[in-house]
Amino acid sequence: MENFGGEIALRLLLLSLFIVCSVWGAELHFDLYKKESSNPSHTLLVIGGVHGDEPGGYFAASFLVKYYDIKKGALWVVPNLNFDSIIRFRRGIYGDMNRKFASIKKSDPDYTIVNDIKKIILNEQVDLILNLHDGRGYYREKWENTIFNPFAWGQACIIDQEEIDGCKFGDLNKIAQKVNSALNNKKLKKNHHAFHIKNTKTKFKDEQMKLSLTYFAITHNKPALAIETSKNINDLATKIYYQLNAIEEFMKILEIEFEREFELSIETINNLLKNDLDYIVINDNIVLPLKNIKKSIRFFPLTERKISFICDDPLVTVVERGKNYVIYRGYKKLTALYPQYFKSGCEKRGMEFVIDGKKEYVQIPSVVKVKKNFKVLASDDIRVNVIGFSKKGVLNENNIEIEKKECQDRYSIDSFHKMYRVEFYKDKSFCGSVIVYFD
Ligand SMILES: [Zn+2]
Repeated sequence: MENFGGEIALRLLLLSLFIVCSVWGAELHFDLYKKESSNPSHTLLVIGGVHGDEPGGYFAASFLVKYYDIKKGALWVVPNLNFDSIIRFRRGIYGDMNRKFASIKKSDPDYTIVNDIKKIILNEQVDLILNLHDGRGYYREKWENTIFNPFAWGQACIIDQEEIDGCKFGDLNKIAQKVNSALNNKKLKKNHHAFHIKNTKTKFKDEQMKLSLTYFAITHNKPALAIETSKNINDLATKIYYQLNAIEEFMKILEIEFEREFELSIETINNLLKNDLDYIVINDNIVLPLKNIKKSIRFFPLTERKISFICDDPLVTVVERGKNYVIYRGYKKLTALYPQYFKSGCEKRGMEFVIDGKKEYVQIPSVVKVKKNFKVLASDDIRVNVIGFSKKGVLNENNIEIEKKECQDRYSIDSFHKMYRVEFYKDKSFCGSVIVYFD
């Protein structure tokens, strides 16, 4: 048997997570993840998701949070700046957030977010800022056609001006050149994916860009660039691949050393997008594996109308929709929870089980693997409910040996009918649940 509970808790502890909550305005606020080593060097701030319909940028940022370890220097990541727009796959549901950095009205729903990110940008520890985007077409200095031209944004490092005077890493053009040549010397998937430098010459030429995040940064003596992968590349993994390659080059320039948990290839990124085992822990007493989760889960036990959750994936969130709750990963809707409310007050943190003939103590919440059968050995004051199992005349499913074939497919939480909820109650209180995974 494997007990995943401890492993999840450990992985979550390893992330130093800062959540700033907003009470009004946008529904979801961004998160700042600080990955710092004890080995001093520079600090890179990476911002994903200023535009909600540009997933190459924000998924790349989420990969930094999930799979990178910093060995020297520091990497700060905001993977979900405009989270309300990300879950709706819209550029900006309250207007273009990247045009609100010169001034913003107090009544603007983005007000808190824009002000909070400005403070992080101006933090004296931050040496350089990257704003991640997916842009139209492929930027080229000279007009070739409607896709490859000077008005396009894709596959480019964007700078507002050549350099910022008297500022470390202020040589924006040279830095962008270095990054681009490293990127273009690596194996591009297609030759036309080559990166170019787009200098918007914001101060003299671009009134719109004067309102942007990077221009706010550079006018406050903070070097900042945008990385744009192309919206014309349809494959998400390919866009993440280019973003991560570019960010790694920036880290090299800033002398930030890192380790990543995977090989940097389009194939591996694709595999991680599809198959990574993410768990969400809800209200500290329920865990749901998100891979292959069904579109809806009924009779979801809650003890209050507020959900708190922890998940390794920074793009996973839970939002209230009417009487229900919806779990998203980025713009992908994973499942809807239809709640049923119970009293709180049961403090049980674990339970005796017999799994394939072996006695085990199982934490609440956790996922346990079962080959043949299991049974719960709860104390007399606990009622056990295995969702999907029923036996005539039995109300408490404690001390009953249960096999997979006795559980009905339609009550599994996953579409392959392998995972079932085992819930514990004390009088009218919900204690928590364990997921039994028939392997
Ligand atoms: Zn954008």
